[in-house]
Amino acid sequence: MKRDSDCIFCKIVAGEIPCTKVLEDDVALGFMDIGPVAEAHVLLIPKPHYETVDELPSDLAAGTLKHLPELVRAISAATGCEGLNVLQNNGAIAGQLVPHVHFHLIPRDIGGKFQFNWPAGKYPEGKMEQLAEKIRQNL
Ligand code: 5GP
Ligand code: ZN
Repeated sequence: MKRDSDCIFCKIVAGEIPCTKVLEDDVALGFMDIGPVAEAHVLLIPKPHYETVDELPSDLAAGTLKHLPELVRAISAATGCEGLNVLQNNGAIAGQLVPHVHFHLIPRDIGGKFQFNWPAGKYPEGKMEQLAEKIRQNL
């Protein structure tokens, strides 16, 4: 399995560092975040080491993310949370501290401390379509 010897999540996958598991199969692992921003904050990771989502083989992405619905249901049932954010910090500029792809599952309740700054903007005429075309050209 692809692994980075300095990576804390690879060490967790290998059992060299303990974690509190909630879900596991051959390719993916779900475990409790040690620094929760809300109670029952869970991390879902692919077991092989890839730093960012854009590097993930799509079958591994699928094998990991297929667990999202059941995990969200289980966390919701366990906590009674009103909602939940699935968050992936992709790259240091996006707030990624651990360079092994991981998806945060963060239960949300009214009055919870975890909040987004969501500065919704507005496009000038034509800009949105221009950007969409650029993205399509790069697919
Ligand atoms: P990032 O900022 O990279 O998106 O998030 C990294 C997450 O990993 C943080 O929420 C942090 O609390 C969690 N984390 C870092 N080291 C460990 C660890 O050794 N064990 C567990 N369970 N979580 C960790
Ligand atoms: Zn790793």
